[in-house]
Amino acid sequence: MDKMIYLDNAATTATRPEVVEAMTPYFTENYGNPSSVYDFAAKNKKAVDDARGAIAQVVNADMRDVYFTGSGTESDNWAIKATVEAYADRGKHVITTKIEHHAVLHTCAYLEKRGFEVTYLDVDEGGIVKLEELKRAIRPDTVLISVMFANNEIGTIQPIETIGGLARERGILFHTDAVQAFGQVPIDVERMNIDLLSASAHKLNGPKGIGFLYIRKGLKLGSFIHGGAQERKRRAGTENVPYIVGFGKAAEMAAQTMAERAEREISNRDYLIKRMLAEVPYTRLNGDRVNRLPGNANFSFQFIEGESLLIMLDMKKICASSGSACTSGSLDPSHVLLAIGLPHDVAHGSLRLTLGEDVTKEELDYVIDSVKEIVEKLRDMSPLYEDFLRKHPVIDE
Ligand code: PLP
Repeated sequence: MDKMIYLDNAATTATRPEVVEAMTPYFTENYGNPSSVYDFAAKNKKAVDDARGAIAQVVNADMRDVYFTGSGTESDNWAIKATVEAYADRGKHVITTKIEHHAVLHTCAYLEKRGFEVTYLDVDEGGIVKLEELKRAIRPDTVLISVMFANNEIGTIQPIETIGGLARERGILFHTDAVQAFGQVPIDVERMNIDLLSASAHKLNGPKGIGFLYIRKGLKLGSFIHGGAQERKRRAGTENVPYIVGFGKAAEMAAQTMAERAEREISNRDYLIKRMLAEVPYTRLNGDRVNRLPGNANFSFQFIEGESLLIMLDMKKICASSGSACTSGSLDPSHVLLAIGLPHDVAHGSLRLTLGEDVTKEELDYVIDSVKEIVEKLRDMSPLYEDFLRKHPVIDE
């Protein structure tokens, strides 16, 4: 196939042409600083607030509770660090999960070095938080529960409404990292009792480098970036007007097309999963079969290295990712795959395919056929596979 096939939409997405079109005038004609008093700049203040309104609507929030940030990572840092600081009188205990993004996990590790205690909850084999364990983990000094809405590797969606209800009942603040979920699945901060929510534009066909944090009204969270009075004195720095406008447009479009996109992506995803599991032996699907993001399929192929598979897929112009992260020269298996109980060697042989809305069945067929061919080739070279076959001979009748 001549065309590149991009199946890494959980990493980032293409910015929609309509989004670029909406952003462009704010680089060129409408370059005023929203804080300036003259009419020329006031237009930009309005554009920022319109985007804020569009975003708030997607999660059923009051637009005054939406604060723009520079990324999903910044939103997670702000939510967690500012909450524990503001509510230090309540205690020094935070609850999160073992499968969070590093934006949450590394922030929690930072807190631990500063005298906070963090409980990292286990998940079941599908990647879902164990509610009984969560209940048992709650202590009188628990200040914050932070559980991601949907996982970036295995796509598992958490029972957010139940967790939010539990936190509310116990008077504990609840943050959710919704970077993968915002614009993909319905979210309602009121019904779900979410106090803090992080999201990022580049996962929903918006630009990179712009995020937001929803902060429920009445929370006494302090400023994360100190300086001017922007973002209701809570996040200083001249507003990134073009990117905010782009985020607003992307959010609006994502909300409008959500149901129809989900239906198409689920149909494609299920086709991919069905064929892959049926046609590639010694393969498993990672993540919950039902409660998962519409576009996410994550597989483990026994007896192969995910990195080798990725490189060979790249030679066929297929962009995908694996659960392994290359850290300082050594290949560490994904903390998410280990948390759902995969042995190291199986976790190493994983492949994440995250679909966009316009992938075709023909492209998926090409991807499945390519994976089959490559996995077979890699297994032919694998001493582990050879050993396995020796111990488990296939007997032809
Ligand atoms: N949280 C999750 C679940 C993510 O998937 C990501 C990005 O991959 C982030 C946080 C970080 O977002 P950003 O890239 O905007 O910093």
